[in-house]
Amino acid sequence: MRLVLVPTPIGNLEDITLRALRVLKEVEVVACEDTRRTGLLLKHYGIPTPTLRLDQHTVGRARELLAPYRYVAYATDAGTPGISDPGAELVRLALEWGWRVEALPGPTALIPALVASGLPTHRFTFEGFLPKGGRERRERILALAREGRTAVLYESPHRLRKTLEDLLEVYGPDHPVAVARELSKLHEEIFRGSLREALEHFQEPRGEFVLVLGPKALEAPNGEALARRLKEEGLSGR
Ligand code: SAM
Repeated sequence: MRLVLVPTPIGNLEDITLRALRVLKEVEVVACEDTRRTGLLLKHYGIPTPTLRLDQHTVGRARELLAPYRYVAYATDAGTPGISDPGAELVRLALEWGWRVEALPGPTALIPALVASGLPTHRFTFEGFLPKGGRERRERILALAREGRTAVLYESPHRLRKTLEDLLEVYGPDHPVAVARELSKLHEEIFRGSLREALEHFQEPRGEFVLVLGPKALEAPNGEALARRLKEEGLSGR
């Protein structure tokens, strides 16, 4: 039994590897989050392999759904399966069943955003989506700031401003950020500036977003305030 994770384009359909196309052709079935979306990709490349829906609601039934197959590809809506999508749970299950699991290298939103940001790339943290609210959200932001590495986050358009505001509160208004919007698509944009400027710039955010935050140094302007806040929250500074 073999499961291959196949990264798919995050916008531009040219961003798919030759190997990914070959695997999509040779597997028995392409399990995917959205059969319509993946179906369009397969159609674009003239690949007749059947699809099967396996999303966050059905991944729990994966064993039963995949029982008839011995060689399966998994593709999510965009990018690399397993990064902020149901791919991670499928891998966990497949390993439990003793399947061979392989992952093809390929497109993902976080790497282009990070490397184009102009911020340090030698050490970084991937945070994905922050919790929507409550103490956990606050603690994660404080922990990110404390870590002192560049941080990469995913965000939806309707939550972008709230997230920029919450980050500004901890990191300070002048802290550097890059906001990558609609990567590889027609309206691709990479905004580079401070958190305050990003809030001014994105008044009515539309599209898909990756946020890249520069590392926070406790010694930097605002660092003292951060250290105090960490102490108040019961989290120690570095
Ligand atoms: N597995 C995907 C990957 O490898 O990047 C991520 C899946 S996650 C459900 C979707 C999020 O990825 C979006 O909310 C957005 O933050 C980010 N994203 C995906 N495509 C993007 C694009 N073209 N431009 C900017 N961000 C994108």
